[in-house]
This record gives sequence, C-alpha cells and structure tokens, in this order.
Amino acid sequence: MNTRTRIALSLFTIMVIMFMIMLANLVYNFRNYSIHTAINKAETIAQSVKHGLTAHMINGVMEQREIFLKEIEHLDGLENVWLVRGSNVINQYGVGLFNENSRDEIDENVLTTGKTIHELNESLLGSSTLRITIPYIATNTGSIDCISCHDSKVGDTLGAISMVVNIDDLKTHGVTSIAYAIFILFTLMVFIMIFVQRLIGPYVNVFDSIKNVMSAAQNGDYSKRVINTSTKESREVANWVNGLLEKLQTTLDEIENKIHIFITKQDEKCEQSDPLIKVNETVSRLSDIYNFRKTIEHDQDISTVYERIAEVLKNKIGLEDFVIIEADNATHTTTEVHIERESHCQANGNCRADRTNSLVDSCQFKKLCSKFNFEGKQYLCVPYSISNDLDIVISIVSNSEKESKEIRYKLPLVNDYIDAAKPEIVGKKLMHQLERSARTDPLTGLFNRKFLEESIDKIVSQSKRSKISYGILMVDIDYFKMINDTHGHDVGDEAIKVISNTLLENTRESDIVVRFGGEEFIVLLYNCDKDYIKEIAEKIRIAFAAKKIKAGNGHFSKTISIGCSIFPEHGDTFWKCIKYADTALYAAKEGGRDRVVVYDPTQSEENNPLDPNY
Ligand code: GH3
Ligand code: MG
Ligand code: MG
Repeated sequence: MNTRTRIALSLFTIMVIMFMIMLANLVYNFRNYSIHTAINKAETIAQSVKHGLTAHMINGVMEQREIFLKEIEHLDGLENVWLVRGSNVINQYGVGLFNENSRDEIDENVLTTGKTIHELNESLLGSSTLRITIPYIATNTGSIDCISCHDSKVGDTLGAISMVVNIDDLKTHGVTSIAYAIFILFTLMVFIMIFVQRLIGPYVNVFDSIKNVMSAAQNGDYSKRVINTSTKESREVANWVNGLLEKLQTTLDEIENKIHIFITKQDEKCEQSDPLIKVNETVSRLSDIYNFRKTIEHDQDISTVYERIAEVLKNKIGLEDFVIIEADNATHTTTEVHIERESHCQANGNCRADRTNSLVDSCQFKKLCSKFNFEGKQYLCVPYSISNDLDIVISIVSNSEKESKEIRYKLPLVNDYIDAAKPEIVGKKLMHQLERSARTDPLTGLFNRKFLEESIDKIVSQSKRSKISYGILMVDIDYFKMINDTHGHDVGDEAIKVISNTLLENTRESDIVVRFGGEEFIVLLYNCDKDYIKEIAEKIRIAFAAKKIKAGNGHFSKTISIGCSIFPEHGDTFWKCIKYADTALYAAKEGGRDRVVVYDPTQSEENNPLDPNY
C-alpha cells in the first residue's frame, strides 16, 4: 500500500471516528433538549390545567370541570388528561362523578410523595409520549385557601393531574436535524479529504518515489530517479535527489573505470552489486597492493619478495596449499622458491603451465599435467610472465573440485599482487644474478675464488657448530700449458669445462666445487674423513683420465693431480688446510703427476715448498 493510500485511510478513519463522536454528542444533547422542552411544555400545560381547575373550584363550578378538561385535550400534542383525588379528598367528597381514583403507580407515588413525576415512553418507529403527573398541594397563602374547604392541613397532597403528551413532533424534528448534521458533516469530510489529498498529494508522491529510489539504491541500483510532481517544493526536492544520484552514479562509474586500469577485473559472480561498496572494496584492494609494493621495494633480496608473496597468498587471499615455482627460460630450469605445505610436482624444467603459458586446471582434465603426483587432489597452476627470461608459476592444490573453483575466483587478486611485484622480482633477480655472477666463473659456471673467500667463515662456523669435517681437494691438470701450446686456448678452455663437469658429476649437492684459478680447482667435500677423501679423489682422477677432450677433428685425454687435506683434522684454520692440500698437490706433481696425495702432517714443514701460514 503506498503512502498516499495509507494517509487517506488514516485520515478517513480519524474523521469517521470524530464524525461518530460528534454525531453521538449531537444525538445525546438533542434528545436531552427535546425531553427537557417536552417536560417544560407538559408542566406548563399541567400548571395551566391546575390553575384552571382551581378557578373552577373557587367559582363553585367544579362539576363543569369535565368540559374544561375535554377542551384542554384538544390542545396540540396532548393525548390524555385526567384528575386524581387524594385520600383526604376522597374521604371528604368521595371519588366524584368521574371516578377520580389513582389510575396507576405513578399517580399513587405522586399522591404519596407530593412530587411531580414524568416518564418518557420512547419508540424508534412508533409514537413517543411523555407522561407527567403533578400534585395539588394544600395551601392557605395568597388568594387561595385550600384549608377553608378541605379537611386537610397545609402541605397535604389533595390530588394530582396526570397527562400524556405526544412528543413525536420533537422526535421528527430531532431526526431531521440529525440527518442534516450527518449530511453537512459528511460533505465536510469529503471536502477535507479532497483538500488534504490535493495539499499533501504531491509531497506524498515525491516521498513514495524517494522511498522506491532509495530502496533500489540500498541494493546497489543507482539508476532509478524520483518522479517530478506538480508543486514547486516537491519538484525541487525531486531534482536535488535526482541530481545527487546522477552525480553519485557518474562518479562511481568513473572511479570504477579508472581504477580498473590498475587491477584485474574480478569474476562477475564475486563482484559486489552495489557500486559504492564495489568502489570501496576496489580502493581497499588498491591500497593493500600499494602497501605490498612499497614493502617489497625495501626487501633485501628476491627470496624475501617470494616469502612476502607467499604471505599475501596465505593471509590475504586465503590459499592454504601452494608452491611458488620460478621458471628460468634461459636455462630451462624450474625452481620451487616457496613451498607452503609440501612439494607436489617434479617439473624439472618442464612445467606445463610455463610451457603453454596458460592455466593448467585439473578440473578440466584429471591428468592434464603428468608431473603432478598426488592422487585425489586438485591442482591449479597459473603462469605469470615476469620478464623475457623469467616466469613464475603458482601451483595451488586443493582437496575438491568445489574448492578449486572457489580458488579460481581468487585468481584476479593473485594476479594483482604478482603484477605489483613484477618490477621488484625483475630488479631483485637481476641483482641476485649480478651478485651470483661476481661469485661465479663464467667459463664453467662454478663458484670462483671470491665466493670461497666470502663463504669460508660461514663454512667454518657451520663445521665447528655441527662438528662436521670438510675434505679439501686441490685439483690441477697435468701439463695443461701443453694443451694451450699445441691446440690453442679454445681447446684449453674445453679441457677446463671437461674437468669442471667431471668434478660436478662425481660430487654430491652438499659439496662445493670452486674454480680456484686457471686450471686449478678446489672441491670441499661435506662430512668427509680420510678414507672417503682418498676414494672420491681417485674416482675423480680416473673419471677425468677417461674423458675425451675434443681438439679439431680428433680428441685426446689428459690426467690430473689431486692434493687432499681435511679441515679441521689437519689444521685449525681453513686456509691452512687449503694450503696443506696445495702442499699435497705439489707432492703429487713431484711424485710424477696423475695421482692423489693426501696431506701427511708428519712431514716436516721445511720439506714443503709453500708456507701454509699465509
Ligand atoms: P703442471 O703439470 O705442473 O701443472 O703443468 P702445467 O702446464 O699445467 O702448468 P701450470 O699449472 O702452471 O699451467 C698454467 C697455465 O694454464 C697457464 C695459463 O696459460 C693456463 N691457463 C690459465 N687459465 C686458463 C684459461 O682460462 N684458459 C686456458 N686455455 N688456459 C689457461
Ligand atoms: Mg697444471
Ligand atoms: Mg696450475
């Protein structure tokens, strides 16, 4: 029900109630007035009759009173009139010719009490009458002395006069007046209704329209407008509201369009339908992303940036099980740079998402990626291109297809954060590569001497803390100069690459291989004792000797000499032990090359051509 109808109904109800009260009051008062008028009229007639009869009595023509009473009966409205004798009068004069005994209880009561009684007989449809009985009280004052003729004392009730007066004319008059009043009130009510409706109608219409428009706005629809009405004020209000809504809608649309340049559009199912809330959410998203970008700008290295991304994925986006994979397009390698729970795949440089540069979703095909090896789990691998050489793949694992679909809706958010992190990933990756290349030998890709010098303290403290010993191999190619001299530097470089590969092939990941300089290499063997060091060194020596080094159309083989020492078994400082390994290498060379010599601390230092105390 609209407001206009509601107001009209309320107004109508109030007016009907008022109308009824007024009518009831009118009827009540009119009835009282009519009864009062009828009583006065009857009393006047009764008093006139009384005085007439008294005059008959004084004039001695009492016996002719019937003529008088008959005449009286012709008075308009008088239906009946009769006289009643009191007991004193009956005792003295009898009941009279016309049997003037009391006719009813009212007569009796008036004779007993000496008080006037009137009784109303109302009938809605029939005739209504007023019965009145007034007493004759004995008096001796004035010109009338009742005591002179009656055996009574003053104040006794000598008799009474009763009459029945028809009051139908008063009733008719009352009903007509009430009908007029009803007609006037009803007309007034109709006029008031029309007037009020005309007066408040436009405002109520605007109010109703504002209500509808605001209700739609509450649900995010700002396109509805307030209708224009006839009055100036309501038209103004409608225009203000419409103007405000127009401004709001245009501004929101503009903000939305501008903001979406910076962030990825979300799936429509996840989007807020209310543009105001949507803009607010978008601004908060932007603010979060801006803060994230500012934070990672100050992070020290690439691994901290990856940790930061992982934190966002976990705490802000709500991903629980995921791995961040770095794919190097130059080297075709993939590295898991963050594992939130556990590693789920062995991409080993062949990641489908990275290779196809498209989303890999197990909800489409169960075995879409052969590298994923967790039965009963769903995976969603999303590639992000960071630079020409670098991609990032975020592999998200979930327990059900439903969960996986929910994660899909979150991907635009993930995209925003990765986008924001791109410049920092590229920059920090470059820094990392620069730092690494400063510690890496460009020919072999092995660590260089600078790396060893910088890492030695770390290696020593770790060794001391965990009581782990390091085996040190000092490796040198025999008669290397000859290769250069015979085949040229390129073949010499090839020989260096071959020895470097041989060293990598015959050591573990926990071991460290360093190109110490020229064709000299140091290998640090993690957790190594005297027997093991000799065994590994021999393995390397034999492996290299078996290698064929290409030179033009042919090839040749070379040998190496290896000197070994163990830290901290042979010396309390690492450099001392390196020197001892070098001493042992010298001994190997001296001993005829192509051999392994483990440093012997029992040998006097004078015999050693190199001083280990540098
Ligand atoms: P020895 O058996 O005593 O070790 O004899 P050698 O000829 O190997 O002698 P030495 O170890 O002193 O040889 C060092 C030579 O290695 C000197 C230098 O010309 C050469 N060399 C050093 N670095 C490189 C390099 O990066 N490439 C090439 N092709 N040669 C290098
Ligand atoms: Mg050499
Ligand atoms: Mg050398």
